[in-house]
Amino acid sequence: MKGPVLGIDLGTTNSVVAVAGDAGIDVLTTPEGHRLIPSVVSFHPSGEVLVGRAARDRRLLDAQNTVYSVKRLIGRPFESREVQRAKERFAFEFAPSASGGVLVASRGETYTLSEISAFVLREVRRVAELATGGPCTRAVITVPANFNELQRSATKAAGRVAGLEVLRILNEPTAAALAYGYGSGSRERVAIFDLGGGTFDVTILELAGEVFEVVATAGDTYLGGDDIDQLIAEQMAEAFLAHHRYDPRGDRQAYERLRAAAEWAKCQLSAEEEVQLRIEELAYGEGGVSLDLTFGLSRQGLEAMAMPLLARAFDVCEEAMNVAGVRPTQIDQVILVGGSTRMPLVHRMVEDYFGKQPLATIDPDLVVAQGAALQGQALATSRAKSRLGRVTLRRVSQVGMRPAAAVEEVQVKGDPRAAGYAPPPPPPPPAAAARKRTLMGAGPGAKPPTQRPAPPPPPPPPPSEVSLAKPSEESTGLPPVPADLNEAREAIQPSPAMVIGDASEPSGDLPGLDIDLPLPDDAPPPALDPAGFGAPEAAPAPHEQGGLVFDEPPPAGGPGLAGPPPGFAPQADPVAPPLLLDVTPLSLGVETVSGYCEHIIKRNSAIPTEQTRIFSTGMDDQEEVVVKICQGESRRLDENQLLGEVQLDGIAPGRRGAVQIEVTFIIDADGTLAVRAVDKNTGRQQSIRIQLIGGVEDENIDEMQQRLEEKFAGGAQA
Ligand code: AMP
Repeated sequence: MKGPVLGIDLGTTNSVVAVAGDAGIDVLTTPEGHRLIPSVVSFHPSGEVLVGRAARDRRLLDAQNTVYSVKRLIGRPFESREVQRAKERFAFEFAPSASGGVLVASRGETYTLSEISAFVLREVRRVAELATGGPCTRAVITVPANFNELQRSATKAAGRVAGLEVLRILNEPTAAALAYGYGSGSRERVAIFDLGGGTFDVTILELAGEVFEVVATAGDTYLGGDDIDQLIAEQMAEAFLAHHRYDPRGDRQAYERLRAAAEWAKCQLSAEEEVQLRIEELAYGEGGVSLDLTFGLSRQGLEAMAMPLLARAFDVCEEAMNVAGVRPTQIDQVILVGGSTRMPLVHRMVEDYFGKQPLATIDPDLVVAQGAALQGQALATSRAKSRLGRVTLRRVSQVGMRPAAAVEEVQVKGDPRAAGYAPPPPPPPPAAAARKRTLMGAGPGAKPPTQRPAPPPPPPPPPSEVSLAKPSEESTGLPPVPADLNEAREAIQPSPAMVIGDASEPSGDLPGLDIDLPLPDDAPPPALDPAGFGAPEAAPAPHEQGGLVFDEPPPAGGPGLAGPPPGFAPQADPVAPPLLLDVTPLSLGVETVSGYCEHIIKRNSAIPTEQTRIFSTGMDDQEEVVVKICQGESRRLDENQLLGEVQLDGIAPGRRGAVQIEVTFIIDADGTLAVRAVDKNTGRQQSIRIQLIGGVEDENIDEMQQRLEEKFAGGAQA
């Protein structure tokens, strides 16, 4: 028995799992009743691996062995700026993997980031199995729209290690739009504004009846609620330094406690005007005297601090608007996603920028999982039965759709990016809102403030000032974090020379590929506008230096022009799986002359898509050809993300240039890369190896799965 298809939002901070059935969508809860499962993994001295809330609590006690925010790092090369930056900030240890990826080191063992995410997904699966009472082995997992090949395949590998068959990797904004029931209404242009704990994304979708079209997507992988927590924690540390002449930033454990308290304060200030908190024994002074921190913050103070940071989100929005060729006021609907959109300031800034009230009737923390569950249901059931049965998500082109001249400049109420910008003042506070809030005052009854329409103000709690005691290791080794903080958090919710040419013949079927989604025949992607976004720069002159020589111009219309792969036909079967088609967010290229790359599949191409190039040997009797592959928009290789290498082995002996290999690069429906190669002379399938940076080899999956099952302790201790 296969069980339901899980819709999993594998988040930076928290993960959520939902299933959709005939009765509707069910967001599943842990046995303790929690819907948010912290995406945190902690390696306990006992050898067990704790996941979820139990692990999150360990972050305060054992920061070095507690791993979080893996989504920021998954699929990134060890040498990348993001990983190096995280190394400085995060308390746990990193090491480079043999394939150039990242390993996390804890208690004498190392783990790939896919394994860490697999622990989270295993816990998600456990929660789902307990909630549904049966096995759950299939899932749709969501990722940010701008995730590249390395990130998508590392996420997929995590699912496999967790024992899940990943039916689809779905873009988060797409999932959010699905959850809001798009797919049957009139034509609308929708922006998905997703501000979570670690990242920000904005995606513009055009929805017309059954057709979903991704018009543009842009993001900042280092902008989220965590950054606001850090600002508050810095202010707390400064206050502590000024008062005690002791800088807690030198002590990782102390800083973790500051950061947790900062997050608590931030979340409270979404509902309250002011908070007061006290952290006991944050450090020890001369003679072992305990040093406490008392700190107060107003919403106004928080907003002044957070505004410059949040303004960056609107730079990203502007980027997306420019790509889409629209102004913010031409967006019909804005959907809020991510826990940080609960901040009233975010609401006001979004409203100011788009000139309309954003839509937040579905909890911004749960909306993505709900959409994923709908997609899972649609994949599992017949097209006729599914409410998504006729939805098409299609990307045609993001350039030249709306000529700039046709873009009306509608008056924008406010531009959060402008110097001196001030968002509209908040509505007058209800009488109770002016009260102060203390850390302990949150109490077990505190509920996450949501953006649902006109939430009634919570009843004022008894104003009690109680301190946050220092957590201590207890005999179980799993001491409870002070209940106040727990509850508050719950409320928060060099290759041989060769020649590359263009394919002279159209490619045929895709043997060995599991592409189950036909493309609509009524919507061939139009040509990219060479003057627009993504237009190829002048190609570097043919060059025989070291690596490859690209000796033919790209095909008319630009290399990698999106299009249905030959052989795809619209699906006639009325009960076939639903059609949901997405785009690749980044261009895929190969190295040509040293230091340059040629784009083969262009950004925003409808997927699945494929493009073929001819590679020929540059030396007599050359036995292998190695092709470097990258993703990104630059013509320079080093400005793009190097994905790895495609190695063509066992080439038949022949004179230089006589052996020609037709290499087809395919981006499948999940946005992941597959490569096929055929010796043009013999027609034989050429052996091929793709070595992705940090990639998890298939043969290692079983091994990882076994280790995971041995160590996995689940949330039993939560
Ligand atoms: P996500 O990555 O979508 O799970 O969002 C997590 C982020 O949302 C964290 O930075 C939380 O601190 C933040 N968050 C959750 N609830 C609230 C709230 N009520 N007010 C402000 N931020 C919140």
